[in-house]
Amino acid sequence: MSKLLRDAQSGGDTGHPPGGLLDSAGAESVRRSKPNGHHFDQRSELQKKLAGPPSFVPEEAYCTDPGDDVDPADCVQLVASVDFPTRYGTFTLYGFYEAGIGAEHTAIVHGVVDQAVDCPVRVHSECHTGDVWGSLRCDCRDQLEAAIKFVASQDRGAVVYLRQEGRGIGLLNKIKAYHLQDLGLDTVEANEYLGYPAEARSYGVAARILDLLGIRSVALLTNNPDKIEKLTNEGVEVTRRIPIQMPTNPHNEFYMETKREKMGHLF
Ligand SMILES: [Zn+2]
Repeated sequence: MSKLLRDAQSGGDTGHPPGGLLDSAGAESVRRSKPNGHHFDQRSELQKKLAGPPSFVPEEAYCTDPGDDVDPADCVQLVASVDFPTRYGTFTLYGFYEAGIGAEHTAIVHGVVDQAVDCPVRVHSECHTGDVWGSLRCDCRDQLEAAIKFVASQDRGAVVYLRQEGRGIGLLNKIKAYHLQDLGLDTVEANEYLGYPAEARSYGVAARILDLLGIRSVALLTNNPDKIEKLTNEGVEVTRRIPIQMPTNPHNEFYMETKREKMGHLF
């Protein structure tokens, strides 16, 4: 287990004042939320739990001590984790901070992945339009759900969710690119029209997150050979590829064809 993982789970040396979490407003809200006559006992129990340094990293301490071998600009820190029941199964949710772009990423882990080899992993880049709105212009949400279900069905595994929207060009540019696609450009041409590469995603942060989780090698859920190559270049050992093929629909057929023809995806 990495030092940061241990630190995040044990509280670490965060410099946070012991017991500093239970301010008067917090105590008041506890009293209000437990109107059953036992709030003084409950408050003293809560005070015991909150004594000492917190079991997460306070915001002001993010990446302030990234370690000897890490450039502060490249720092990715495990900030907090929590039990995480979902509609797909029970996981642990981990939250990470990436100093370089000030981004917040998450991973959900099923089972024990520390020191795991050939560990089933999906590295999923945020797709607001697909993951949240259920867009049929892409297959992101289907892939994400299939990956979560697959990982939940295995002894262990992880899904890493990277906040790099629209292949890294950002949400608003992605909507502009969709507009250009409606005019007739394909996804690669639309990105290039806006002055962005077709693929602007970076996987250094994914490699760091996998390292922080203690995963030694991954069986990657993807159709994208470029992702395998980029993760490998970042030092991730990819033992094999687990295909994650989704049926197309009339709205994403052309996009899927472009992914296959121009971006080398394997369907
Ligand atoms: Zn998408």
